[in-house]
Parts: sequence; structure tokens; C-alpha cells
Amino acid sequence: MLTTLKEVLADAKKNKYAVPAFDCVEDVMVRTILETCERMRSPVVLMGLIGPDLDGNGWRYITGLIKVVADFHDVPIVLGLDHAKDLESIKKGIELGFTSVMIDGSSLSFDENIDITRTVVGMAHPKGISVEAELGFVGGSDLLATQHDESVLTEPDEVEKFVEMTDVDALAVSIGTSHGVYRSLPDLNIEKLKEIGRVSSIPLVLHGGSGTPDDQIQDAVKNGICKLNIYADCRIAMTQGLARSAESQTRKDPPVQDLFGPVKEELVKVVEEKIRLLYANNRA
Ligand SMILES: [Zn+2]
Repeated sequence: MLTTLKEVLADAKKNKYAVPAFDCVEDVMVRTILETCERMRSPVVLMGLIGPDLDGNGWRYITGLIKVVADFHDVPIVLGLDHAKDLESIKKGIELGFTSVMIDGSSLSFDENIDITRTVVGMAHPKGISVEAELGFVGGSDLLATQHDESVLTEPDEVEKFVEMTDVDALAVSIGTSHGVYRSLPDLNIEKLKEIGRVSSIPLVLHGGSGTPDDQIQDAVKNGICKLNIYADCRIAMTQGLARSAESQTRKDPPVQDLFGPVKEELVKVVEEKIRLLYANNRA
């Protein structure tokens, strides 16, 4: 069933696990992720990422599909808008039924970030919609290969004021991950995360979860990360499935289930792995 980010993250914070958050497009991803989460009794955040995934009719297809199928699955499902940078996108997301919106003011100044986040909270909270913000800057890009900006770590000193001034529900922090595929392995700054955790009253979020070594992810979860954003690892798995599918077809016109079967199988493996990694199984 559909629920809000605030609700699922409150349970995660209390019980020290993290909710897996997957960017997704198409039935192949939405259905595979939901069926796997339901089987493993894990809450989940399904996200639409601003950019090519949502451009054109993506906004309506992704939200339409998830809203219709969410009720068939009796685990908590959050429909999240990922990386909105302007109020127009937030407004559209609220109108289309997202139950959580992320306002990414991480490339703005501290005061500008507070201003835009406060404005979004003012738009979303009266409608019961949760808000995630980002403080510090998680570099890299999931879908635009040309963009490789350097990360700026979150300053613990700024966290308390930011949370108090904005009334935001969840905060994405920068502690050494980056979006997309890593060129060299990350080294998470767990000491910084601990400092942030001491001053933050709200659940913390880690972006750039793909490719980060498992032990570092688990260390982060033990120290306050309540939601992990994952995209590249799913795309890598589906690419492997696609290659396997292309090799194994004996017919010129294979049934669609045979075409997508290996893609779904590879995706299931990643989703199961992430759920276990985050201690999210048997939480719903
Ligand atoms: Zn992100």
C-alpha cells in the first residue's frame, strides 16, 4: 500500500535498518522490485528520477503505474520524486500523487537551500506529503555521463540549524558516495556520519548507494542511514540479463516473457541483495 517517506523512515530509524530506494521505469522494473519486496517483507521507496526517466509522458506513466499497483502489494510503498531542483517540478510531483518529494538544493548556498526547502515543505506538508532535502553535495550523475562534479561533504555544524529552519522529514547527506558508477572505490567518512547523527533529529539518507562496498554500507546503516538510493546497480544487472536474453533466444519472435525473463532474474538478485544488506527483510 502507498504510504509516506516519513512513516517508513520513522520505523527504520527506530529499529536501525535502512529502506531500499530504487529509481525505476517501466513495468519490468516496477513489478520485479515490488514482487521481490513483498516476498521478502521489505518496505520500499520507488522513485522517479527527474531527467530522461520522467521527461515527456514518463511523469504520468511512472506515477500512474505505481499508484494503480501499490494496493495489490501489502508492504509499505513510498512513491518518491527524486532530485527535483525547482518548484515547478515539485508542484507537478504533488499534483501527480507522489507521496514524497526530494528538493535538491545542494548546489545552492546554505541560506538559499534553506529557503527553497522551506518553501517545498510549505507546499507538501499540508497535503500529507513528505520532503527530503540534501545538505552537502553528492557528486556524479546517474544518467548524464558527462557530469562528474566533485562531492562536498556535509558539515555537521550546519545540520541542526537546517533541520530546525526547514522542518524537513529526511536529509540526504554527503559522506563520500557519488552517483552512478564509481571510477575508484569510495571511502565513506563514518566519523562525519556519527557527528551528523548526533545533531540530526530526523532520518538520514545516503545517495549513490550503487557500487559502494557492502561493509561500508552496513557501517553507515549502523550509524544512522535509514534510506539508501540505488540505481546504477539495477541497470548493470539488467544489462547482464539483456545480454543473456539475446544469447539464449532460439526464435526470431520469442515470447515477451522469454525476452524479459533473464532481465527480471538479474534484477531480482540485486533487489534481494540490497534488502538483506540493509537489514530491511521481515520489516513489513
Ligand atoms: Zn541522488
